[in-house]
Amino acid sequence: MKILVAVKRVVDFNVAIRVKPDGSGVDIGNAKMSLNPFDEIGVEEAVRLKEAGKATEVVVVSVGPAQVQETLRTALAMGADRAILVKHEDYVEPLGVAKVLKEVVTAEKPDIVILGKQAIDDDCNQTGQMLAALLGWPQGTFASKIDLEDSSLTVVREADGGLQTVRLSMPTIVTTDLRLNEPRYASLPNIMKAKKKPCAEMTPADYGVDVKPRLNLIKTEEPLRRQAGVKVSSVSELVVKLKETGAIR
Ligand code: AMP
Repeated sequence: MKILVAVKRVVDFNVAIRVKPDGSGVDIGNAKMSLNPFDEIGVEEAVRLKEAGKATEVVVVSVGPAQVQETLRTALAMGADRAILVKHEDYVEPLGVAKVLKEVVTAEKPDIVILGKQAIDDDCNQTGQMLAALLGWPQGTFASKIDLEDSSLTVVREADGGLQTVRLSMPTIVTTDLRLNEPRYASLPNIMKAKKKPCAEMTPADYGVDVKPRLNLIKTEEPLRRQAGVKVSSVSELVVKLKETGAIR
């Protein structure tokens, strides 16, 4: 039982990012970068399945620039066995990533592919679904619990206002939601060990995939700033204020 986990290097969730003055994107300059939180959950789940004796190998893969090596090492330090870096310096859209992953899947033949439900930088929430479509595989998206039996995978999905349980035949795609698990911190000895784990380097061209962007980014805007609140001393004053602002009649 082999598990492939797709991981993306993104701006750390603690970093307050700024939109470039010309609106052409987000200025990430020297911002701290991290493993996408949903992908950290994916790695954790795969490693737990290996520790439980249900999986034999965990392979992590990422598409991105050379610095992605660092992100892959984090996943290796958490317990993944080996890594594949598909090197590409420019931004790759979800469809491009999904096409590359399809070729990696064809070469690696995993039983389960785990992705995050979304990358917290572009919030696309597309790659897992596109990969499932390209492969013609079943998918369990927004997983908050998974249960692996011999030839099937039961996935509890976080749906709007409730949970949905689906059983998928394998091979299959899973995308992680926040409640699936709490990822571990890599210990220092494991960080050292990760440096010696294999990390293969490929390019999209090696897989025969064209990752040229298909979309034109028109504009990026900051959300509107919230206005300061007003303190009122009584309910009647609150009602007057609400009427003044048109919130009630
Ligand atoms: P997205 O569709 O961009 O929101 O990303 C959803 C998931 O797809 C992420 O959580 C990752 O598991 C995977 N993914 C997206 N971009 C990449 C990438 N460049 N390399 C590897 N995996 C990726």
